[in-house]
Amino acid sequence: MSNTQSSYNGRLVAYACNDTQSIGRRFTETFPTYRNEYQRDRDRIIHCAAFRRLEYKTQVFVNHEGDLFRTRLTHTLEVAQIARSIARELGLHEDLTEAIALAHDLGHTPFGHAGQTALNHCMKKFGGFEHNIQSLRIIDKLEQKYADFNGLNLTFETREGVLKHCAIKNAKKLGDVGQRFLTKQQPSLEAQLTDLSDETAYNNHDIDDGIRYGLITVDELLTVELYREQHNIVTKQYANLDSKKLNHEIIRRMISAMVVDLIDTSQKNIADANLTSTQDVRNQKQRLMSFSASMNDKKLELKKFLRNNLYQHYRVHRMTKKASYVIDALFNAFLDDLKILPTEAVQHCHTLKDKHGDTGIARGISDYIAGMTDRYAIVEYERIFNPRQLSFSS
Ligand code: MG
Repeated sequence: MSNTQSSYNGRLVAYACNDTQSIGRRFTETFPTYRNEYQRDRDRIIHCAAFRRLEYKTQVFVNHEGDLFRTRLTHTLEVAQIARSIARELGLHEDLTEAIALAHDLGHTPFGHAGQTALNHCMKKFGGFEHNIQSLRIIDKLEQKYADFNGLNLTFETREGVLKHCAIKNAKKLGDVGQRFLTKQQPSLEAQLTDLSDETAYNNHDIDDGIRYGLITVDELLTVELYREQHNIVTKQYANLDSKKLNHEIIRRMISAMVVDLIDTSQKNIADANLTSTQDVRNQKQRLMSFSASMNDKKLELKKFLRNNLYQHYRVHRMTKKASYVIDALFNAFLDDLKILPTEAVQHCHTLKDKHGDTGIARGISDYIAGMTDRYAIVEYERIFNPRQLSFSS
């Protein structure tokens, strides 16, 4: 393969991102051998430490609650699976889509959204904390593996996809990938579809985990149209399925219904827009990847159900509240005395202090905490606050 011809040529539509026409990397590199530029991005993500940490980070249920619950890693793999199917059908770049999907949650703190909310609160005086920006920070700066640069030096298209949302005040500081939030342009179709694959994955796997945990029941779910529709189809076809198979058959059909709707609706949007290039995609007033209006309504109903019955269930809330105490206590202890941080983390804080003063110190602490897995954060909390662990070895 030469650097002017994509291995995808002939399969990519004109408005797909093309690996031979990438906007490029922050640091110029030679063309990879036997891989395209987006394959290289994907491979760098899989080999980075932040990716491995996803295995021990909470999606909704903390990692040690049970071996079958989704973790950030298994969620990420489900997003990649859904996103790749859609990309292939639409003639978009599957490797780029996969790279974006695999990196999309790298910046999440331990303990899921509770951790993110707590860290954002701690960082309020220092510019706040957003997991999307943290994902970008990891791939651009924090991973330290390569001799010639910090970060993973990924292509613009992967970085743009990772930065799904961002406040305007932050976009101004992010250079090329922040630009579209200021000019109100759209990201690539590969980025758009990965974003929707993310919610397709979690809306469905959270039902599965919620039932397994005993927090929601099939009877309650029958009030949700998306679930009820597929429940009726499955029970009509199979009268005596056990509850495990019944639920799986329903959820796999729900994912399928959402994916088919997304592909059909987006194909129509794309045809109506008469696209001839990726620039045409970026110049659209609205995103072209979308669900139909009726699927959007059903999806909103499901999201509302999950919010009220699962995410705000007192047992989940109690767990997440406890997690936020851990994050809060760690942050304040480190800010109070940097010397209790491990050597590498304290050096990172000092480097940032030289550039940004006290804000830099807080950002260094935030990087350290955001990088923790659930179990590391719990152990670190024990080491610092449990008097029974008052020993040199801790
Ligand atoms: Mg996600």
